Amino acid sequence: NVTAALDVLRAKLSPSGNVVSEAGKRRTLEVFGEPLTPVQVVERICSDVKQQGLPAVLEYSRKLDRAELTAETIRVSAAELAAAHSAADPRLLAAVRRVRANILGFQQAILHQDKELQRPGVLLAQRYVPLNRVGVCVPGGAAAYPSTVLMAAVPAQAAGVKEVAVVSPPTAFGANNPVVLATCHEIGIREVYRIGGAQGIAALAYGVAGLPKVDKIVGPGNLFVALAKRHVYGEVDIDSIAGPSEVVVLADDTTRADFTAADLLAQAEHAPGASILITWSERLLEATAAELQKQVQQLTRCQLALDSLRDFGCLILVRDAEEACRLTDMIAPEHLHIATDNAAELLKKIRNSGATFLGNYSPVALGDYAAGPSHVLPTGGTARWASGLSANHFLRSSSVIQYDQSALKDLSADIEYLAQVEGLTAHEQSVAMRTR
Ligand code: NAD
Repeated sequence: NVTAALDVLRAKLSPSGNVVSEAGKRRTLEVFGEPLTPVQVVERICSDVKQQGLPAVLEYSRKLDRAELTAETIRVSAAELAAAHSAADPRLLAAVRRVRANILGFQQAILHQDKELQRPGVLLAQRYVPLNRVGVCVPGGAAAYPSTVLMAAVPAQAAGVKEVAVVSPPTAFGANNPVVLATCHEIGIREVYRIGGAQGIAALAYGVAGLPKVDKIVGPGNLFVALAKRHVYGEVDIDSIAGPSEVVVLADDTTRADFTAADLLAQAEHAPGASILITWSERLLEATAAELQKQVQQLTRCQLALDSLRDFGCLILVRDAEEACRLTDMIAPEHLHIATDNAAELLKKIRNSGATFLGNYSPVALGDYAAGPSHVLPTGGTARWASGLSANHFLRSSSVIQYDQSALKDLSADIEYLAQVEGLTAHEQSVAMRTR
């Protein structure tokens, strides 16, 4: 019963279904003195930051991140950013420059263009304007993510956003990480704050002393970050509420089992990450299973990947390619890898996926790190209606309307009639006095 199985998987993988560890629960009790749920924790933090401003941010950083910060040290100084950059491995900076160029090239090419419609007496237009100021969350609890700096901030730069503020926890993986700081400096980001979790989101949304509020918050994070983004939406815009990562690999006899196993493990090592193989080749399924057993032993994060595979992994044998495509559409995966020789043909039969990778030589890691489209993608089946982050998410559109008198006259009877129906006589008058 695939639908029921999917519901279970989705519930587990949704940000709010993502269970907090026992250590996390103990932390909550220690910090708040009562067993609050994650939603309650986030509401408490956001409300305190909204009311008290910077002192609440400093207090939560002390309690949750064990970081003693002040109004001065909460922002990474220009000298620290420059020092991290000077000390960085030249290979890192070269890679960052190449990847940035790939992202910029793609994101600028897909930017919405202003549109104008003209006919006698009428001008209608759609104008696109970049947001003024955005906040980018770079996670830093369990690992450092320079790739997230690139994948979230460069699309904003491609759109023409003037001010990009990065927040990352005050940890060795976050805003104290030299690789993260060097990457920020290399791509021209000069505003980096040592704030993580819900307090980071609240600081960006409401603004605190030394950190002006932003218009939009983007980027991934753990459960507390995801719930805080949901909480502040409306005060600011957000990109999405992302859950754990997932991949569906479609494979047949033309697919290499060793590649497929490596791709499934690459999601599983996110821990949790859902790794799903759908194939109509029994031979490929068995070969992949054997490869998984072999390759998982060689991973640095072997145990994490095994746990993920046990909880969120599956190898599904279907009747044929048609059934595989239908099932994929139902899952609407964040990442879809069609690893067959006729990948482009199969793609025509599938509508729902966050990002799609075609053929044996386009692993998901290519998109994660370097190709150009952002790796911030809709998860948990939300690819049915949501899109991955792109430069266009940093543009606002606004319409422009200009009519001359004779064109207004052509429409005046309809406008006046509808205004009368709604009882809005001032609306009716504002047209009638111009056209009579
Ligand atoms: P994080 O920076 O998102 O969260 C760490 C912060 O969480 C801490 O600073 C702390 O303030 C807060 N926190 C931790 N425990 C808490 C508690 N009990 N109560 C209140 N607040 C608490 O870093 P992380 O934990 O490493 O999570 C990063 C997540 O982002 C991972 O799930 C990772 O897979 C995901 N990620 C996704 C992408 C993507 O593009 N989809 C990229 C990178 C990372």
